[in-house]
Amino acid sequence: MSESFLFPEQLGAYYARVAVREFPLLTRLREETAKLPSAGMQIAAEEGQFLDLLIRLIGARRCVEVGVFTGYSSLVTALALPADGFLLACDINPQTTAIARRYWAEAGVADRVRLELAPAVQTLDAELAKGEGHYDFAFIDADKTGYLDYYERCLRLLRPGGLIAVDNTLWSGSVADPRQRDPDTQAIRAFNDHVRADQRVDFCLVPIADGVTLARKR
Ligand code: SAM
Ligand code: CA
Repeated sequence: MSESFLFPEQLGAYYARVAVREFPLLTRLREETAKLPSAGMQIAAEEGQFLDLLIRLIGARRCVEVGVFTGYSSLVTALALPADGFLLACDINPQTTAIARRYWAEAGVADRVRLELAPAVQTLDAELAKGEGHYDFAFIDADKTGYLDYYERCLRLLRPGGLIAVDNTLWSGSVADPRQRDPDTQAIRAFNDHVRADQRVDFCLVPIADGVTLARKR
């Protein structure tokens, strides 16, 4: 588990010991990613475990992910899917997603994943052009100023009862600090207000990792 602003140090260490049971290949991906300067972009292990449980709980077969990086959350998702499951993975970075592809292959789940290297709005719009309501689960974890665009599109892609999970909605606590007025913090505040007012979904902002908002399409 990465250091958490939500836990005092001692409880954080205890939580990491009793709450996380990471699949060995995911541990290896975490270790490889830790060598990159952008390693902090990777989701926390306990968050991966949470996503895994959600995907299994709702029996998801078709998933979409916005923000792949080196593939931790996409590998979690692909491993949680049944053999005929499908993940549409959106990113713009060929270098980091080459690492993701290597791990999908090693895990034997590469045939479940379609990676689209293009701005995610473009990929999601192309998917929407094929129809709406044919996805079960979406994970949003790309550029924060795009969150509302991704959320609106993913909501249309989901079936009723489908679930969107959105990462970093507590943004290390800076959302609660009125002195923080940078574009990412403002975008996350706007997103949080938007979901709370959105009567199309049932929702919960779960204080795990950096905050994960769950929105279930009504
Ligand atoms: N979920 C990933 C994981 O588990 O490691 C971390 C994702 S990282 C925080 C954000 C990713 O979003 C980066 O890989 C970046 O290339 C991608 N990204 C940024 N802007 C994007 C855009 N407009 N469309 C698609 N992906 C984008
Ligand atoms: Ca994130």
